[in-house]
Amino acid sequence: MRTNFSPAQLVDPQVAAAERQVRACVHCGICTATCPTYVLTGDERDGPRGRIVMMQQMLEEGGAPAPQAVHHIDRCLSCLACRTACPSSVDYARIVDAARVHIETRYRRPWLERVLRWSIAFAMSRPVLVRLGLVFAPLGRRLPGRLGRLARMGAAARPRTEPLARGSGRRIGLMPGCVQKALAPEIDAAVSRVLARRGFDLVPMAGAGCCGALAHHMGRDASAWTDRAVAAAQGFDEVLITATGCSAYLKEPGHPLGAKARDFLELVDGAKGRAPRRLRVAWQAPCSLQNGLRLADKGRALLVDCGFEVVGIPEAHLCCGSAGAYSILQPGMADALRVRKLANIGQVDVVATANIGCLHHLSGPDAPPIVHIAQLVDWADGGAVPYVLV
Ligand code: SF4
Ligand code: SF4
Repeated sequence: MRTNFSPAQLVDPQVAAAERQVRACVHCGICTATCPTYVLTGDERDGPRGRIVMMQQMLEEGGAPAPQAVHHIDRCLSCLACRTACPSSVDYARIVDAARVHIETRYRRPWLERVLRWSIAFAMSRPVLVRLGLVFAPLGRRLPGRLGRLARMGAAARPRTEPLARGSGRRIGLMPGCVQKALAPEIDAAVSRVLARRGFDLVPMAGAGCCGALAHHMGRDASAWTDRAVAAAQGFDEVLITATGCSAYLKEPGHPLGAKARDFLELVDGAKGRAPRRLRVAWQAPCSLQNGLRLADKGRALLVDCGFEVVGIPEAHLCCGSAGAYSILQPGMADALRVRKLANIGQVDVVATANIGCLHHLSGPDAPPIVHIAQLVDWADGGAVPYVLV
């Protein structure tokens, strides 16, 4: 596609990267049918092709973007199903990342929206504040709107603190992360047990915190988090973060930790035992695993190897609506995608996923029990039954 960026605009490496991808788009529309928001609304502006046109126009014009363009770009989940589907290898992430920074720096949102976004970026990336939020969440359950939604999500959390297991082999730094550390610390514990049995020594990385993905996907500057993580990773050849949304972010082109970053599914090959019960498991591979890490099939194979009956999910490529802070910022769209995902999952004994966002977003009284895949592997290895299955 032809572009009209000025040389001055292309000095910005992020804009230059976006421009290269816009030029590669031939407007064939093959990506459109894979886009969850287009599937819901049928509006070209809620699909990747329409968004690329809007984002190009917005970046070329350079000034404050039109509210309508912001509305449709905000509704993008950054699930990257369009990137996987594109026959021209257009890296949509490079375009939407530049567009989000442009919006964040040039568009004045209503003050309530600004407060909400700032609060998410500040509080949700700090486990201490998330834990504090969990304490007060029950008080806010009746609040209207998105604050009430956030409170209800927090009130439903049942975090369990378990010690990490240490192995005696290949040394890997464990990034603590943020939301998961507060909402479900038992996931890292299960991962550590699984890896210890396979000869890995998982060592908590002192000084690291949030990976910065949450802020990055809202167009905010995540460099402070990156700097902390890079400093904490000194002395480690490999680092692990146990949410796929975070590991996919660390592995995006240009991230300074890209060469060191590992995902749980890269490290685990095969089961060490058999599941004590033959359960019907729906494997809900997060978008970050399907379209970023490309390890969705490995997760399925691992569950089968553990002796579970893995059932397919129709429309598996459609995001569940979690997408970082998306479920808070775009509750209508996120709820519609959740309902659709649960209908596609149907009647199963348990849902396995690999990202805290999906796990928490899909959980609820209308859903089957949901666990991180490491918890099922740990159980099959001979560890404890995941508490949601007791
Ligand atoms: S499939 Fe690729 S080339 Fe075709 S419209 Fe989508 S992004 Fe552009
Ligand atoms: S990233 Fe996902 S929601 Fe956004 S345009 Fe691509 S397919 Fe649609």
